[in-house]
Amino acid sequence: MSRGLSAEIIAVGTELLLGDAVDTNSAHLSQRLAEIGVDVYRHTTVGDNPARLETAIAEACARADAVLVTGGLGPTQDDLTRDAVAALAGVALERHERLVAHLDRFFRDRGREMPVANLRQADLPAGARVLDPVGTAAGFALEVAGATVYCLPGVPREMAPMADADVVPELAARAGARVTVSRLVRTAGMSESLVAERAGAIVERLDEAGNPTVAFLASRGETRVRVTGKADSREAALALVDPVVEELVDLLGAGVAGLDDEGVEHAVARLLRERGWTLALAESVTGGLVAGRLVGVPGASDWLRGGLVVYATASKRALAGLGDVLAAHGPVSEGTSIALATAARERLDADVGVGVTGVAGPDEQDGVAPGTVIVAVDLPGRPPGARTITLPPRERPALLEFATSAVLDHLRRLLADVDAPGW
Ligand code: ATP
Ligand code: MG
Repeated sequence: MSRGLSAEIIAVGTELLLGDAVDTNSAHLSQRLAEIGVDVYRHTTVGDNPARLETAIAEACARADAVLVTGGLGPTQDDLTRDAVAALAGVALERHERLVAHLDRFFRDRGREMPVANLRQADLPAGARVLDPVGTAAGFALEVAGATVYCLPGVPREMAPMADADVVPELAARAGARVTVSRLVRTAGMSESLVAERAGAIVERLDEAGNPTVAFLASRGETRVRVTGKADSREAALALVDPVVEELVDLLGAGVAGLDDEGVEHAVARLLRERGWTLALAESVTGGLVAGRLVGVPGASDWLRGGLVVYATASKRALAGLGDVLAAHGPVSEGTSIALATAARERLDADVGVGVTGVAGPDEQDGVAPGTVIVAVDLPGRPPGARTITLPPRERPALLEFATSAVLDHLRRLLADVDAPGW
């Protein structure tokens, strides 16, 4: 295997240091570089300050083969990347008439005169290779002290196409055929620690060899296990990764909702399609979040009849009647959830109905503790039933995401005829 090409990423902008904007550019670039087997060893964030920017770029050039800089290519006085790189390379800025023409056209197409300040964006360090602009800012590449410095705009929707069109293919060619491939095994209804425990033996075995590697990524009650392999070709990397993915699927069993891009909502969609069933929802505590996850699946209109947010008790009664259930068990109860599931199924003319009640907190409600989620499912061929899930304490938004995931996972397990309950 060839020695890896190393890279560092520098995000430029005082707004990033102040926490007013989040550096998504570095994450995007790191992902792309990982895919082509370029080793990213450091992310640096630096403000719009000429001395510190120059230092950051110089230090990165001393360590890495390639340095990717995003931001600071705009027209204003605090956009300093062009000047910093020119100073480090010991060259002057040079005006590119082709870029002046581009800027002129850019503004004219929008019915505006080009502000004089924007001319700065046509000035690049002498000897730099132009990366064609997506908006107004051209990027550029220049050799500085033994490293190639790539300067990209800060605006993510301008940065990403430029990186994908120019920088990533060029670095891929320089990195040789060394390729990194990652696959995901996506679980639901299992805690991260349970997933890690089940996968423990595999991880231990792989740790010794170092390729492929396994990492656990937990969010909102769904733990993803990422398997990453490096080899000289995509096929060879997949040949390392695929057997580990299969092993994990066996070990994690019913907890596996899907692979790669397929999460728990895609699993629900696939199972509904397989059975030819349609779905209707009546959500209280999750306020439409379950429907929101499901409409993210392409083609949802084929099987999703609709969802109702029945938040107030009066709304639940209007939908589902509820009769004695309310008096006996209260609005947050298995009885109420079941009545909602059945009412949603009947009123929206679906095959499967789901009803969700619960308490998001921070305070308890009608004697029910925060973190309680009661999901009922009414589907063909069996009597409607409910399950009460107690989620670990969390801030309200995180708890609701977690609850949404738990509801989808419960539905997935029922549709798949899995005996083992989640959570
Ligand atoms: P422009 O040509 O539009 O002026 P620029 O290269 O000067 O682009 P900046 O002025 O630094 O870029 O940033 C422009 C916008 O892009 C800002 O809204 C900023 O918050 C956003 N941005 C800058 N850097 C990043 C980053 N690393 N991740 C995500 N967003 C960023
Ligand atoms: Mg800026």
